[in-house]
Amino acid sequence: MGSSLTMFISLIATSGVFTVFLCVYAYLKRAEMPGARTFMLYTGAQAIYIFSVAFEMAAGSLGEVMGWTAVQYVGMAPAPALGLIVVLEYIGKAVPRRLAAALFVIPAISVVMVATNGFHHLFYKSVAFYPGDPMPVTEIAIGPFYILHGIFTFGSMLAGVVLLLRRWRHTKKAYRIQLATLIVGQFMPMAGAFVYLVGLIPYGVDPVPLILCVTSAMYIWAILSTRMLTIVPIAKESIFESMGDGVIVLDNAERLIDFNGAARRMLPGLGPAMIGLTLDEAWNVLSGADFPAARLADGLQEEVMWRVTGGEPFYYQIRSSVVRGRVGGAIGSLLMLIDVTEQRRLQDQLQQLAYHDGLTKLLNRTAFIHRAKERLAAAKANGAPASIVLFDIDHFKRINDTYGHETGDYAIRHVAAVVKRQLGADALFARYGGEEFVVCLPAAPLAEAAETAERIRAALAAEPLRADGLAIAVTASFGAAEAGPAGEPLQALLKRADMALYEAKRAGRNRVRLHEPAAALNA
Ligand code: GH3
Ligand code: MG
Ligand code: MG
Repeated sequence: MGSSLTMFISLIATSGVFTVFLCVYAYLKRAEMPGARTFMLYTGAQAIYIFSVAFEMAAGSLGEVMGWTAVQYVGMAPAPALGLIVVLEYIGKAVPRRLAAALFVIPAISVVMVATNGFHHLFYKSVAFYPGDPMPVTEIAIGPFYILHGIFTFGSMLAGVVLLLRRWRHTKKAYRIQLATLIVGQFMPMAGAFVYLVGLIPYGVDPVPLILCVTSAMYIWAILSTRMLTIVPIAKESIFESMGDGVIVLDNAERLIDFNGAARRMLPGLGPAMIGLTLDEAWNVLSGADFPAARLADGLQEEVMWRVTGGEPFYYQIRSSVVRGRVGGAIGSLLMLIDVTEQRRLQDQLQQLAYHDGLTKLLNRTAFIHRAKERLAAAKANGAPASIVLFDIDHFKRINDTYGHETGDYAIRHVAAVVKRQLGADALFARYGGEEFVVCLPAAPLAEAAETAERIRAALAAEPLRADGLAIAVTASFGAAEAGPAGEPLQALLKRADMALYEAKRAGRNRVRLHEPAAALNA
């Protein structure tokens, strides 16, 4: 065996060791490496290819050559397809199963055809073997399936190179070394395969295993120095598609250009058929109304309510921003939809807790004071009267003491329910304290407030609380006061109503007493 052949085989074996190293590395790092599985298969296939080439070169007979060639194709035939899938995964393109499967049809055919070539001679028309110096020569005449295999191999590698080159402009500087490594890693074997497939190399020697020695060494360097394959840039389309917030892209004429998966989930009905519609047209189809914002100025924020028929309402905050082209001019706009439903519900809950009484769900004292002041101010502005009715349950301690605190609570709820039925929509009704309630009647003079109070009193007296099979009488005492057309501060009005309420208690309870304005003047 010639010394140049020995050197050649040693080089090829080194190349094989490199690919095995890469394969093992991918296996060890598979958890943090996107696409590790494909990379393992890719380098594994290369290893099979490379080692069988070494054995083929050392072969001493035609039979041995053909045997090792068959093994060689098990690795060599699928390697370009696997390389293409590695590239597709690297640039963030999802590889559908069908496409992946289709890529292995021709490699599978090639493997079978090479292994069975002796029967049909459709891969190699003829193979001749001459043991010679410096190395043995295998002469082949190619058949139709060899051409098919050649075109597919070259085409897959070219597709990989083209896909990577197209990424160059959109790739950040920090990732360009990795990208360059991948491009060279795809291009060099492609060039080698081309030269070999068209028969430009003497002795029928395949240069690709030697080239793979260089590219594998380059991959190892890139992996160790730039953490290639463990830190991979994520394609912008995948980011767009997997964002949690909805994004709708519009052109300068406010026509729909694109939207992501989140937008489709948030606005059921949004689909590819709507591309090209204006935002208003699309919004009309989706919700039956124009888009709520008058103009899509940059930085616009708008909250919309979205109700899917029969479902709970959703709240989306919509933000708009201008999309600028390379030259800086506006080329469209972007609507970002942020689901704020949870915040809205929480806000509503907090508001409910802050302004309402937990036991009766009536307004609490704080909320009452705030709103009653507004009502009084409005009445004053209109020169209209307004009245306050304050009432307190009679002998409530007895109810608590006789039937227990729980029945006491029940009595408070009972009073709230009975009173609510007696009041019109414009009355402001609140739980003022423990078992004390207050009603603000805007536009009602004292006589009307007296009538309302009397009606409530009678209703309470007529409807005992039914609990544990008992009918417990629950009555209350009432005090009313009117703020005249000139107006009166709420606190003063409440104080006068309370004085009247005290009178009602003193007079024997379950009755209404009024604090006349004249009395106020005298007081
Ligand atoms: P009066 O006719 O003079 O009003 O007699 P009263 O027994 O109702 O006397 P008062 O108004 O002073 O008593 C209020 C009682 O109400 C005291 C307190 O224990 C009870 N109370 C206050 N808030 C609640 C509540 O939320 N639930 C229950 N069960 N009892 C309450
Ligand atoms: Mg009481
Ligand atoms: Mg009381």
